[in-house]
Amino acid sequence: MTPGALDGAPLLVVGAGIMGAGIAQVAAQAGHRVRLFDAREGAAAQAKAKLAATLDGLAAKGKLTADAAGATMARIEPVAALGAAAGVSLVIEAIVEDLEAKRALFAELESLVGADCVIATNTSSISVTALARGMKLPGRLVGMHFFNPVPLMKLVEVVSGLHTERAVADAIFELSRKWGKVPVHARSTPGFIVNRIARPFYAETLALLFEQAAAPEVLDACFRGAGFRMGPCELIDLVGHDTNFAVTQSVYAANFYDKRYVPSLVQREMVDGGLLGRKSGRGFYRYPEGAPALPRVAHEAPVAPREITVHGDGRVADWLAARIADRRPAREARSPWTGLALDGARLVVTDGRRAAELAAALGTNDVAVFDRPLTAGDPAGAAIAYAVADRASERWRAQSPAWLAALGFAPQPVADTPGLVVARTVAMLINEAADAVLQGVCTPEGADAAMKLGVNYPAGPFEWLAGWSAAGVAAMLDALDAQYRGERYRLSGWLLRHV
Ligand code: NAD
Repeated sequence: MTPGALDGAPLLVVGAGIMGAGIAQVAAQAGHRVRLFDAREGAAAQAKAKLAATLDGLAAKGKLTADAAGATMARIEPVAALGAAAGVSLVIEAIVEDLEAKRALFAELESLVGADCVIATNTSSISVTALARGMKLPGRLVGMHFFNPVPLMKLVEVVSGLHTERAVADAIFELSRKWGKVPVHARSTPGFIVNRIARPFYAETLALLFEQAAAPEVLDACFRGAGFRMGPCELIDLVGHDTNFAVTQSVYAANFYDKRYVPSLVQREMVDGGLLGRKSGRGFYRYPEGAPALPRVAHEAPVAPREITVHGDGRVADWLAARIADRRPAREARSPWTGLALDGARLVVTDGRRAAELAAALGTNDVAVFDRPLTAGDPAGAAIAYAVADRASERWRAQSPAWLAALGFAPQPVADTPGLVVARTVAMLINEAADAVLQGVCTPEGADAAMKLGVNYPAGPFEWLAGWSAAGVAAMLDALDAQYRGERYRLSGWLLRHV
């Protein structure tokens, strides 16, 4: 396989469903002649007709010239038989997600194509190594994992199994780049990069719901407040609980039932009851209404303390000091905690310890913890989770949200749980990404690109780590582990080595 061997090559897309049609569009727009085959009679022609309507619509809106739309459509040829594979240099498979069906297809394809034809699979969950088993030339099979909707989502995971030839993976990587995508190399392991690293985004919220720490709309608002486009509950409702649960179960089973990936009873019950989200009219929320309005947290104005001190060093402490610079706070950089000391009261950025634990450690009842701010600018009314120690005074219960509001947040009370909402989730995302790097699944840069482009995270796990510290993340996970006991919050060896 020589570099550039696939440039402009004729190709065959097998499977004309949601993904196959999108892949055909992107390839044709990049100038390839594309044959499109589907086992269901007429499906390829239907997919082409639907695509023509979409491109016409884009042309009508001026997002595409009519000529470009016409040229793209002219390059796509629906074919009635797999024999059309003869003479192509690349086949992209996007049929049903079934190991045996895909293996049978590859066997048939190998009897039709030449020895230098690359076969790429768009599987989202099946091992590329397992799919290659039994092929005559298993080195030519590579994963080319697009995200839905294919024309809009930039990420392509280029997945290598044990058989995959490096030159084949490199050729698909280059080709993806020429198609305007951002390819990332991945080793074939359960969930590849995105579907694996993203598990805690859903799992931590489901765990918080399981112990009734907060309502779904509060959790979602806290994630949006931290810069995520959608919170986990609204996202699962959009994708469908059945689909999300199936991915979680498949990653769990594929990891020999490692407790780190254990699915949630909350979701099991919803799936069993047909509460699948938007598509069934009810999930975490009812549709078309969607999430109810957030409860308004009434709070008084902050009472100016006699003394105000910013504790801690690092990015968040610096940010806090800047937010209240006009109050001329003192600074206690060598403090074992980060936050504000307001006379006897303590407003602490979560480090994994609960407010009640911190109260015992700091020797004062008036303690509140709040979630770790992820962005360094003006929160501009962003929701943030906080919890007050159970023995705190009434005065501090009223004053702690007042101070969060003074910092610019919309404070949202949640149960006094370790790591609150966003901090524990981000720590787990970092931990999962660290393990993926340790296991050679991807590089740190690959993980960051994949999470930003595959699931639209506002930053990648290693970018979050750069603004935190390995020691801080490790302390958070250890606190969660101490609270929940088990294997779920097990620290990655990679993080341990970077503490
Ligand atoms: P889909 O059901 O929309 O389309 C699958 C198409 O394949 C159907 O038109 C079906 O008739 C056809 N088909 C089934 N068996 C066939 C065979 N043996 N030969 C030829 N055609 C056959 O499914 P989809 O969502 O497009 O998914 C296709 C693949 O892409 C799956 O492997 C899936 O896991 C993967 N994937 C899906 C998504 C997604 O969000 N939908 C994202 C990434 C990857």
